[in-house]
Amino acid sequence: MIPIGRKTAVLLCFLLCLLIMGGCHSQPPETQRDIFAMDTYMRLKAYGEQAPQALREAAAEIQRLEALFSVNESESDIARLRKADGQSVTVAPETAELLNTALTLCEHTDGALDITIYPVLRAWGFTDTAYTVPSADTLKELLSLVDYRAVQLHELNVTLPPQTAIDLGAVAKGYTGDRLCALLRQAGVTSALLNLGGNVQAVGTKPDGTAWQVGIADPKGGEPVATVAIEDCAVVTSGSYERFFVAEDGRKYHHILDPQTGYPVDNGLVSVTIIGKSGVLCDALSTAFFVMGLEKSAAYWKTHPEIEALWMTEDNKLYLTEGLVDLITTKEPYTVIKRGAS
Ligand code: ADP
Ligand code: MG
Repeated sequence: MIPIGRKTAVLLCFLLCLLIMGGCHSQPPETQRDIFAMDTYMRLKAYGEQAPQALREAAAEIQRLEALFSVNESESDIARLRKADGQSVTVAPETAELLNTALTLCEHTDGALDITIYPVLRAWGFTDTAYTVPSADTLKELLSLVDYRAVQLHELNVTLPPQTAIDLGAVAKGYTGDRLCALLRQAGVTSALLNLGGNVQAVGTKPDGTAWQVGIADPKGGEPVATVAIEDCAVVTSGSYERFFVAEDGRKYHHILDPQTGYPVDNGLVSVTIIGKSGVLCDALSTAFFVMGLEKSAAYWKTHPEIEALWMTEDNKLYLTEGLVDLITTKEPYTVIKRGAS
């Protein structure tokens, strides 16, 4: 062994401390905020010196958007539209932007997504938790009010036919996620992970430069069914297990409604996850794909290269699009859906 003098030992200790401190410095500090908004728990995590202030601004932005989009706050844009009785209402630029995007997606999905579903949702009690199973006659009557094509949007002016009303539950969190990511990037944050009640949106990579690992929930609970490696994108899941009630007839009724029938979708799917750059697109399509069912939504995906998708069925089968194969880790085997195949 080479003997070392006291001075050398002190110097070595000093260098070691510097190394450790240097190591700590390369891992930027984490800031986390937990918020209950838009009827769900949200967790915002961001890294770096800018994160505390940026997350404060993000939290304020969530409250601001909720006050515009909420079906329950009496002065929200959406509530004012519901009460307008056929009159034109001037809405905030953000509401107009979200309505515009949502209406386009209602059209692209052939009405599987229909933001005028509100009267039917309310009859089931999904807007205020006064759950009940409406009669077939009630549903038939209310369905005559459901038609996204009746919404007139001209810049900031929106007109709905009397009794028609809008619910943005299928798209609001995705839109909010997109705005928060933009806000964080603008504030200089390069690494953040936002979980808005099951809608996950990432800014950049983890602070160490590796991809975020996002779990896809098992509808039965416990460990995630799959983990997807992502950076700078959104992972949005819609599932029948997320919001439901058990009625007196002993049956389970969930919150994603088929705009054709007015009943909760019952097509063998338990969840659909969409992965892509745009949170609002992923949110809209996770709901719409759930309504369309596996076959129709897989056909839709084949002509839409901007997203990837994962479907889970009631009989525990997993289907995923080919672009996910290299990004996903699953416990169970799965079927790959390919673009070229019919
Ligand atoms: P979550 O809110 O659980 O994240 P989704 O994004 O799938 O799930 O949105 C479901 C919500 O969208 C419902 O709670 C309801 O507010 C609304 N909704 C239900 N069915 C439809 C539909 N067919 N089209 C548009 N919105 C819908
Ligand atoms: Mg959605």
